[in-house]
Amino acid sequence: MAGTKNLRSRLAPPADQAVENRFFALFEILSDASSDEEMGSDAERADSHISYDDGIAYWNSIPATVDGVLGGFGNTTLPRADMRGSSGFIEKIARKLPDFGAIVATGTACDIGAGIGRVTRDVLAKHFATVDLVEPVQSFADQIEPELAAASKLHVLGTIYRVGAQSFTPDAGKYAVIWCQWCLGHLTDEQLVAFLRRCITGLAPAGLIFVKENNTSGFEDEFDSVDSSVTRSNKSFQRAFAAAGLTVVHIELQPGLPTGLYPVRMYALRPAASS
Ligand code: SAH
Repeated sequence: MAGTKNLRSRLAPPADQAVENRFFALFEILSDASSDEEMGSDAERADSHISYDDGIAYWNSIPATVDGVLGGFGNTTLPRADMRGSSGFIEKIARKLPDFGAIVATGTACDIGAGIGRVTRDVLAKHFATVDLVEPVQSFADQIEPELAAASKLHVLGTIYRVGAQSFTPDAGKYAVIWCQWCLGHLTDEQLVAFLRRCITGLAPAGLIFVKENNTSGFEDEFDSVDSSVTRSNKSFQRAFAAAGLTVVHIELQPGLPTGLYPVRMYALRPAASS
């Protein structure tokens, strides 16, 4: 999924998080017990249907507004809950990992699949000195500067890279944080792992990758033909992180989202070699 259009769940949301967490724990035991042959052939894999051009065509048809990038959830509790959840998560990880905490305020962040710069404006500008943004859709990228200017946040703007994540290679050692939110569903599994590997080389010492994405409520990844993206299970994400050489520092479910949406998880990740 990318954007909140895809936040809409096809399944009823879990009754509460504790139940959901127990469900996931049980699920992971069961699915670990099952073998990889159950993953299916390439042709059946959800990510095999992804088309970059179709995804871009979809986003090109969407207005360059907060409501647009949030799939019509701009006027719900979502933006505020999302912003608070992200800021709290960064602060929690900064306390948990003092070496990361030490580079936060002066560091550079990179906002991947940035849309109109909503995450930069509402979250990253609060915590980092400079933010670079990666956004392939022209009308969204064009809106980043006015969006930040209107919020008096233009001082954080670094470079805007007008490319998809699959074509982005960060400068080596540059970033305290690489933040990926509601956009990784546009990458195939292979592109995702390769992208995360490049992100590792783009991290400053003690830097971290943050991923904030929808998760399917079940075991399967789901392809969405409307924007040509996949929504991945928690398990699929964890598999991709491990394949890229990343260790999960912390995972949290985003609370306070409107009902009927996919669960949204925040992952803080560091290179396995540094853990
Ligand atoms: N992260 C932003 C925008 C989410 S909407 C926010 O939370 O506000 C999804 C974004 O992913 C859109 O801006 C879309 O243009 C972008 N996107 C689409 N394909 C992409 C790709 N291959 N790589 C990176 N971003 C992509």
